[in-house]
Amino acid sequence: MAVFDNHAHANEFTGWGVVEVTRRFRAAGGRGIVFVALLTWSIGGRPGDRGWVVRLYDHAVRNAEVARGAGLVSGAVVGLHPAECVRLLEAGWGVGEVEGFMRWAVDLAARYVEEGRAVGLGEFGRPHWPVDGRVVELCNRVVLYALERARDVGAAVHLHLERGGQATVDSVVELVKRAGVDPARVVMHHIEGALAGYAYARGLSPSVPVGRRGEFEDALRAGSVFVVESDYLDDKSRPGAVIPPWTLASKLRQYVAKGVLSADDMYKICVENVRRIYGDLLEV
Ligand SMILES: [Zn+2]
Repeated sequence: MAVFDNHAHANEFTGWGVVEVTRRFRAAGGRGIVFVALLTWSIGGRPGDRGWVVRLYDHAVRNAEVARGAGLVSGAVVGLHPAECVRLLEAGWGVGEVEGFMRWAVDLAARYVEEGRAVGLGEFGRPHWPVDGRVVELCNRVVLYALERARDVGAAVHLHLERGGQATVDSVVELVKRAGVDPARVVMHHIEGALAGYAYARGLSPSVPVGRRGEFEDALRAGSVFVVESDYLDDKSRPGAVIPPWTLASKLRQYVAKGVLSADDMYKICVENVRRIYGDLLEV
């Protein structure tokens, strides 16, 4: 069985670090994992500092390299989380300054994909907590630019979004259309399980967190149209916030053993749907 975790983080500054995370994941039956860039301050960096953005991206790239060295299929997704935008605004940056900085971060991420160092851009997106309208508008402009650059370089994109039901999916569809990017390459990270079918029917790639009670079962009602993720933070100060990749692997194996999931569905979720997102960028 080929378990694939579509969105995880590994961080030796706060948790186990990539060597131990990949060792445990492999031992639990894991075959592939995508490592997504964290927050600049989660690796000891300063938000708004270009040098730290480079180090943040390189950290995710190295995590994927270590995973490949350990025999896993792996790629890096690099970008800046919407929380970085909010931090800069709180620090007194103007909206235009933040937008310019975020566009630079998008361009840098696109270059990592062009150079074969990363498979995708992310996580860009909108805060999942309530923020004022001008922040949402700023984040939407950044997302649109990320989608346009992903179209240019043939990258996947991981979007971090609020959980606003069908309206959230509809707004992503709108941005995807404007950017002219292939919607299959656009991952709705941490989507509500019940919305997986709705997002897939609109061409997007839903990524369902396995750690949230009942959501995998909700997602499966629409069929095996999604990929799965642990969204592991690798932060010992936040235990239980999300499940680790090795628990994702054992949960999926239990679903198959109990007959909740057929071997065919497992193959679709962990191989075919992964290929649909990354194409030639990842040898799944
Ligand atoms: Zn994440």
